[in-house]
Amino acid sequence: MPENDGKKTETFRSTTEILTRGFDPRLSVGSARPAVFRSSTYVFSSPESAERAFDVATGRAEARPGEKLELIYARLNHPNAEILEAQTIPLEPGARAAAAFNSGMAAIITSLLTFLRPGQSVVYTVPLYGGTQHFLRDFLPGWGVRTIPVLAGHGQALDAAVRSAENLGVVLVETPANPTLAMTDLARLCRTVNSLPVSSEGKRPLVMVDNTFLGPTFQHPLTLGIDLVLYSATKYLSGFSDLLAGMVLARDPELVERIRMQRHLFGNILQPDECWMLDGRLPTVTLRMNRASKNAQRIAEQLAAHPKIARVLYPSLFSDPEQLHIFHTQCAFPGAMLAIELDGGKPAAFEFLRNLHLARNAVSLGGVETLACHPKTTTHSTYTDEEALEAGITDGLVRISAGIEHWRDILGDFERALDKL
Ligand SMILES: *Cc1c(COP(=O)(O)O)cnc(C)c1O
Repeated sequence: MPENDGKKTETFRSTTEILTRGFDPRLSVGSARPAVFRSSTYVFSSPESAERAFDVATGRAEARPGEKLELIYARLNHPNAEILEAQTIPLEPGARAAAAFNSGMAAIITSLLTFLRPGQSVVYTVPLYGGTQHFLRDFLPGWGVRTIPVLAGHGQALDAAVRSAENLGVVLVETPANPTLAMTDLARLCRTVNSLPVSSEGKRPLVMVDNTFLGPTFQHPLTLGIDLVLYSATKYLSGFSDLLAGMVLARDPELVERIRMQRHLFGNILQPDECWMLDGRLPTVTLRMNRASKNAQRIAEQLAAHPKIARVLYPSLFSDPEQLHIFHTQCAFPGAMLAIELDGGKPAAFEFLRNLHLARNAVSLGGVETLACHPKTTTHSTYTDEEALEAGITDGLVRISAGIEHWRDILGDFERALDKL
């Protein structure tokens, strides 16, 4: 199903490629757009093909180049996942393989569990997505994995943690960090990891980046040497706040293959209907993200001068030279996430949220509609007071995901909400 029609020899730019690959209408009675294949099980052309498909799926044999393996069972693989994965690859520069999951958390956890073993350690930046933080801080240690947080935005501290961690298996970074937008220098991190001595098995730690905030349009970690890019596809990739999905991409197909083997076992592949919905959204992700980023930048820069706002956290407004350098060298645009800190703490933040008419008070992000939330009491409420304070998640902080409405209308909504404080 993911094969092209064989006639296509040219390679195109990513925004074109996404409309020309991964799907052969002849395999779907000529349908111009992919059909949905809901079957849980697939009919083999012969017992021999079944045997061969199982040999490869279970890792007893390797597929020969160009070999067409028959589908087995939808927990392992299905046509809509293959189409979606093939169409996501050109969006992520440097990627050669992808695997779709039924949520961002499924993608993140499956990737970590594929490569970590008891006795190893993980270095990770904070703050990061609440669920990921919960898994690293509270779950993994129970399985014998040491997890070491480092405050995002401190390159030297990250270098030092990577160099001193015992039996380091994985470095996991979210950049920009959720919700403070603190950035991590990915090229520098890769240099540090590559300078580590290789282990007795000849291995170096894997570096994973949660690219949900700026990818796939504005930041390309694989081109900087990162091993795995992780997504909550629930956000920008999908774009309409109406489905959950996750994605893992890598330069090295072998890494994705190992993750898929665990996906077979855990049963967390994305279901056919969701794959179909998501691949219909991919051709517009660049358009949506460009518009939302332009909106966010205009709004952030206007709000920065507002007397009731203590500070606006947004990449184009960074003042720290290291952060500015990372933004300018690593990101094409500042993106559509911003956070504002209100004088007046939690009561002011809550009143601001209550006063909004256009923007909605909801968690999540990356949809065409503008959303706002109070991280301290919602997305990051599992942080202890000290963790929140250290990470910059204050009582007056409101996180905003700018949508694609007219920017003046969104700004007007925020200004009216501020005026009433
Ligand atoms: C939402 C989100 C996740 C989790 O993704 P789900 O699809 O909700 O499981 C992980 N990382 C980041 C940065 C997110 O915003």
